[in-house]
Amino acid sequence: MKIVYLLVFLVLFPASSHSQPLDLYARKRQVMVERDIKGRGVKDKKVLEAMGKAPRHLFVDEYLRDRAYEDYPLPIGEGQTISQPYVVALMTEALGLKPSHRVLEIGTGSGYQAAILAEIVKEVYTIEIRKGLADKAAKRLTALGYKNVSVKYADGYLGWKEFAPFDAIIITASANHIPPPLIKQLKEGGRLIIPLGSTVFFQTLTLVTKNKGELDVEQLIPVAFVPMIGEAQKKKE
Ligand code: SAH
Repeated sequence: MKIVYLLVFLVLFPASSHSQPLDLYARKRQVMVERDIKGRGVKDKKVLEAMGKAPRHLFVDEYLRDRAYEDYPLPIGEGQTISQPYVVALMTEALGLKPSHRVLEIGTGSGYQAAILAEIVKEVYTIEIRKGLADKAAKRLTALGYKNVSVKYADGYLGWKEFAPFDAIIITASANHIPPPLIKQLKEGGRLIIPLGSTVFFQTLTLVTKNKGELDVEQLIPVAFVPMIGEAQKKKE
């Protein structure tokens, strides 16, 4: 009789209670993809799959985990933020990524955008100017098994010459101009996306394609990003 009770217990409460939150986050993630990302017109399958896979709740502090799949940005420390999921998806889709691509990101922050890129492309290079954030993101990405991401603590204004040119460049901090070294490090036909604007309150998400040395410019949506610091603030004020 006791064995029967035990079996019933095991069927009703399989594994440990730890598996419950994981299922809960997976469900929240699926709702986020359907409602906030697909629902707003993002169509690229690779992007939708990546957003449905990367554990966004593990890129924020524990007290924010339950809110990780909501439709807004969240603080990641040092006054910085992880972008709203829709903005991450939109920017990623705009880059027109292919599995063979090598991508440069400026502004690693939590490492979440880098993880989304890493789900889609071969190699991701990401630069962060705040040491605390760079170290934390590098550790986190390694712990989560993202082997194709390299994190560097530096001013991203200068790009990462050693690994240039890149198929795509994504800048996740705002600036009032596109850093010229980044344009130089973009492949012919490559795409670069940046929140461009001269105010700290809002900018325009701007997509640039390098076309025979010229730049084709497309303005997407208004956004509010934290500013790019360092060299970007010294030039072209
Ligand atoms: N992509 C991040 C969020 C970016 S927040 C994520 O997925 O979580 C913007 C980040 O850009 C901040 O972490 C900030 O420290 C960093 N940043 C600002 N200026 C920079 C610069 N010149 N070079 C590299 N990173 C910079």
